[in-house]
Amino acid sequence: ALSVRNLVKSFGGRPVVKGVSFDLAPGEVLGLVGESGSGKSTVARCVARLTKPDSGEIRLGGRDVLGASRRELRTLRRDMQMVFQDPYSSLNPRMTAGALIEEGLLVHGIEPDRRKRRDRATALLETVGLSAADADRHPRSFSGGQRQRIAIARALAVEPKVLICDEVVSSLDVSVQAQVLNLFRDLRERLDLSILFIAHDLAVVHYLCDRVAVLDQGSLVEIGPCGEIYRRPAHPYTRSLLDAVP
Ligand code: ATP
Ligand code: MG
Repeated sequence: ALSVRNLVKSFGGRPVVKGVSFDLAPGEVLGLVGESGSGKSTVARCVARLTKPDSGEIRLGGRDVLGASRRELRTLRRDMQMVFQDPYSSLNPRMTAGALIEEGLLVHGIEPDRRKRRDRATALLETVGLSAADADRHPRSFSGGQRQRIAIARALAVEPKVLICDEVVSSLDVSVQAQVLNLFRDLRERLDLSILFIAHDLAVVHYLCDRVAVLDQGSLVEIGPCGEIYRRPAHPYTRSLLDAVP
């Protein structure tokens, strides 16, 4: 679904992403791990076109993401949705959960009919384990895990092909983490969705992902099936990451 080649990004002359390449197959969940500051979020933001990389190539279903015209970019943005660690950063506190989800449908012209749009928002709330009655509540009134569910429902509303998750469970309690991870597992069964899942917790990645990519100071040092890499890490950095797990 997604292919990234030789992605390079510097900030103030300092390279933070140094030629990263990987593929994300349709329906695949790829974990991206690495220490704080290794460039994970920068990679994600470049892929989602929230940040412009210095160079490289990004293709989504064969379409050129970096060379896209404004018009093409609209569709590409719809096909690639991003969910963040802190759902506050993406959920307008003045809008209700229902309105937040409907907004995506409206912006992308997916459901012009008001009634149908409302029904669809309700169905999405149910998909992520909330209820129709939650549609009228504001983000503030939900727990952290529920808020993350709203952010996920909002991202899913536009039926993206790729979902980029940047530390979406990192700020949640362990039990809530498990619930949200199970939601992702369930979604990947039901929807034809590719997920780039950024996390610093290797156990979380192992639970959810097919493959894992390891980022060290802006370079991808290892990529492969989780089981294999956790059993036999080839790169010293991956070994040190695994040794650091309590
Ligand atoms: P974390 O696990 O803490 O989220 P990360 O792997 O996501 O870390 P990034 O956020 O991608 O790391 O940051 C990589 C490097 O790029 C860091 O040194 C960071 O300070 C720097 N950086 C990121 N965004 C900017 C920016 N907008 N301006 C300047 N430097 C930046
Ligand atoms: Mg980050």
